[in-house]
Formats: sequence, C-alpha cells, structure tokens
Amino acid sequence: MRRKEQIYEGKAKKVFATDDPNLVIVDYKDDATAFNGAKKGTIAGKGAINNQMSNHLFRLLEQQGVETHFVEQLSERETLVRRVSIVPLEVIVRNIAAGSFAKRYGVEEGMVFAAPTIEFSYKNDALGDPLLNSYHALALGLANAGEIERIKTMALRINEVMKRYFDGMGVTLVDFKLEFGRTADGKIVLADEISPDTCRLWDKATGEKLDKDRFRRDLGGVEQAYQEIMRRVMEK
Ligand code: UDP
Repeated sequence: MRRKEQIYEGKAKKVFATDDPNLVIVDYKDDATAFNGAKKGTIAGKGAINNQMSNHLFRLLEQQGVETHFVEQLSERETLVRRVSIVPLEVIVRNIAAGSFAKRYGVEEGMVFAAPTIEFSYKNDALGDPLLNSYHALALGLANAGEIERIKTMALRINEVMKRYFDGMGVTLVDFKLEFGRTADGKIVLADEISPDTCRLWDKATGEKLDKDRFRRDLGGVEQAYQEIMRRVMEK
C-alpha cells in the first residue's frame, strides 16, 4: 500500500492517506511528551517498539474477539489501519492505584482494587484532557449511549485479556489508556495504540517500572525499559 499525503501529525505518530479511502498508514515517532506536552524529549527506538508491540497486542485481542483498526504491519514503524474517526474520549482502565488516580484521591500508588475501574477524560489538549463521566460525554455529544456501553464492555474485556497476557511474562498491568474509533459504517473498534507509552507495567518480581513513567519521572533507563518489555512481549 503506497503512502500518499500526510493527513495528521500527533505527538507520537503521523498518519498518511493511501489509495484506499478506508485505509490509512500510521508512522510511529521517537518523540515523547508528558504532562499535556509540557515535557518533551526523544526515546531512541520507541517508535519501532511501540508499533510492533501494539500490533502484537492488537492481533492477540482480535484472536480474543475484540475488533480493532489493525490491518497489517508494513515496516518497523509503519502500520496499515482502518480509517476511523476517533471518539474524543481517553478511556482509562485501572487495576491498581497510580499516577493521577493516586494523587486525586490521596491514596498510595500500589493499592490493588477489588475490581477494575474505568474513567474517561475528554480528549482536548486546550482544556488539558479533563476528567468526565458517561453523562458528561453524552451531554457533550461525544458518543451516544450505545457507544458508551460498547466502549465500557470492550475496555473491560481488553483488560482481562491483557492482564492475563502480561502476567504470563512476569509483568503487572497497573493501568492503561485506550482510544476507540468509528468505522465508515459506524461500528466502534479499538484504535490508537497499546504500548509502554499508554500502559503502566511493573515487573512482578522487582516492582521495576517498564513504561513511560521512567521518562515522566526522570528515573533513567528509559530506552532499556522499552527494550525489556518489547523483548518479553516478542518472546511470548
Ligand atoms: N495515559 C496515556 N495518555 C494520557 C494520559 C494517560 O496514555 O494522555 C495512560 C498512562 O500511561 C497510564 C494511564 O493512562 O498508563 C493512567 O494515567 P493517569 O491518569 O494516571 O495519568 P498520568 O499520571 O500519566 O498523568
């Protein structure tokens, strides 16, 4: 599939048109941002790792009956995906308290929940991606009631599949962010990526962080952590 004009550039990816109006090519960058773009940097090799790891997980999810935008990996950094319009919600699933949850509710990072929890934020950089609930999403017309239900059901199913998968490689899936898209025929499918940029992944034995928190919190060993999680995913 040939790459045509660039139609979008985000913080971590570029998107290109193709000859097929229903397909686009995603090209992953090494650029890293945090805190709504306030912190910027580069993580060498990240684009290739996130592309391949996300594709690996999307294939696994497809096998488990979760519909995604994934079509075909084209190169280390490029993937052909179905063209969707992104639902402007960041869907966060949490198994353990960390990050903004721990801060907002004044609990220790590491508190294990009795059941997973879902939260939404409004995907809007100018507003700083504010937290919102299902009623707010409906009021703002971001999605309809059926779509919100499907998104929640899919998010919890994805969590179950991924939790089991990461557990098998000695990694705890703490939390992660998903984005969903509408296909041309109006179906909700999983889109965007699942990678160390969008998940918190803790080594079960040592508690070591194998994700973007190493960059956010200046913990060092950022590239090594991305390589380590990639190695474990690809070995499975
Ligand atoms: N996350 C993300 N993009 C965002 C915000 C969060 O991928 O814009 C992911 C983040 O990597 C973590 C989970 O969502 O795995 C929960 O993040 P949290 O709300 O704790 O935000 P943070 O502490 O990163 O501000």
